Amino acid sequence: MPDLQERIDKVRLRLLSAATKCGRSKAEIMLVAVSKTRSADAIRHAANNGLHHFGENYLQEALEKIDTLKSLGLDWHFIGPIQSNKTRQIAENFSWVHSVDRVKIAQRLSDQRPSDMPPLNVCLQINIDNETTKAGLSPDQALLATKNILDLPNIKLRGLMAIPAVRQGQQAQQKPFSKLQQLMDEINRPLDKSEKLDTLSMGMSGDLEAAIFENATIIRVGTDIFGPRSVKQQ
Ligand SMILES: *Cc1c(COP(=O)(O)O)cnc(C)c1O
Repeated sequence: MPDLQERIDKVRLRLLSAATKCGRSKAEIMLVAVSKTRSADAIRHAANNGLHHFGENYLQEALEKIDTLKSLGLDWHFIGPIQSNKTRQIAENFSWVHSVDRVKIAQRLSDQRPSDMPPLNVCLQINIDNETTKAGLSPDQALLATKNILDLPNIKLRGLMAIPAVRQGQQAQQKPFSKLQQLMDEINRPLDKSEKLDTLSMGMSGDLEAAIFENATIIRVGTDIFGPRSVKQQ
């Protein structure tokens, strides 16, 4: 799949170039390939091109691919909406969950994380532009939720995730990412060093440079790695 390799190389170059421009190391930034709607075969090719972290939005679809590809030892990130009756399978099959938007979900993930697995890495999803169409906690809700979630034994609260409204131009795109960074600083201020959040999951195909400038540590890229998704399943 020469196209795939070219697209991956291009995204890696964009990551490196943005990081260099703002004085960061590319090693600080994890690239998660968003593989919703893609076949197990496409993921295998991406893995052959050096990608290791894959993001999925739909649990049933993800579980099939995780099973098919289990010999590759990939790390799977759950980034979609979470229904409480689905938490067990998420806790059992993923390394990261970016879309926790209620304390109750965090509690269930901790209760259901198998004891022989390392703690599940968790980010709180923040509705940073306060959009009625989007999931996520408000900044105030996140400040309150943090205390309860930090005490849960089998998950590790790593940071914040957001999907801002679409904006044109890097400067405009940086604003909501800067807000997310400030919220993480505010959450971290009273915390002990060992508890401090260290992850900002932000930036997708259209705004990854803006996110890197505002200290993203994980970017989640689908379209610019795998090509356009069919309109039916965004
Ligand atoms: C689909 C999706 C992405 C990837 O978006 P692209 O624009 O295709 O790069 C990232 N994060 C989440 C939560 C998504 O649902």
